[in-house]
Amino acid sequence: MGRPEVLRARPDLDQHWVDVDAEFQVKVTRSFWERMDPADPADPLARQVLPDPRELDDPHGLVDPVGDAVRSPVPWLVHKYPDRVLLLMTKRCHLYCRYCFRRTFDPAEAEDPTPAELDAAIAYARGAGIEEVILSGGDPLATRDATLFDVIDRLRPAVPRIRVHTRAPITRPDRVTDALVEGLRARRPVWVVVHCNHPRELSAEVDAALSRLIDAGIPVLNQSVLLRGVNDDVDVLAELGRALVRRGVKPYYLHHTDRVRGAGHFTVDLERGVALYRALRERVDGLSLPRYVIDPADGSGKMDVEAFLAGQRRS
Ligand code: SF4
Repeated sequence: MGRPEVLRARPDLDQHWVDVDAEFQVKVTRSFWERMDPADPADPLARQVLPDPRELDDPHGLVDPVGDAVRSPVPWLVHKYPDRVLLLMTKRCHLYCRYCFRRTFDPAEAEDPTPAELDAAIAYARGAGIEEVILSGGDPLATRDATLFDVIDRLRPAVPRIRVHTRAPITRPDRVTDALVEGLRARRPVWVVVHCNHPRELSAEVDAALSRLIDAGIPVLNQSVLLRGVNDDVDVLAELGRALVRRGVKPYYLHHTDRVRGAGHFTVDLERGVALYRALRERVDGLSLPRYVIDPADGSGKMDVEAFLAGQRRS
């Protein structure tokens, strides 16, 4: 089903698609599109990627919802924790998730670092005395293999460990080519953290991509975002955790939704999030249970939602 058919089935989308797209591009991969039912307004995959009129009316959303700007000593790099930094390889992704903080990037700014900016970010990371660089974005796998491998090689040996945060194995599984896997395998220790929110995202094509990584000795973890109308249901979260572990992927983080401007309709309130998480903890084994965390807007870094909520109650 292409966009014209979707709009025939969903006239509600037609009224605002152009306005929403002008603010944050609507972009979906073929592979993800084939797993979703775009004609169904309740479809948990379609909800993540199709435009919604509520994106245009979100007075409480923030432009920098996790406080990255105050923790960025050089462009394209975020340093919030003593032992690791985030290096933003690009702002591009294969698909755009409507809830992502990426939507607040200024469209007038460049999508990729210049060579000089990348040099400066790598130099900072090499000199920071850290254990790990997390390659992020956007999606670092939206860059070419040669770029990715070159950055890893230039970080070594000063930075022993590399982590790649990517949604590509889920959204664009054919990006996980033999050449990519071999390049990462040769550069271990490299950890890959994918991003899957709902068990229906796990197709046969995705399974094959995850297996290629795991079979090469690359540990794979998953992070999810708790999203209203997508996975704010203990049955869905339990099924997701178990489905990931069956595939050899450890559920790592369940993120409380960031207060991204334009994504307020995805937010689950904190008390309900904690109640859901406690029910999940009762339901699944430790391997299948991610850590439920929040990344506050003051840039202080991730913390457990239960501790954050307790602190809020005290203050
Ligand atoms: S950075 Fe990740 S969550 Fe954000 S739009 Fe890209 S793939 Fe989606």
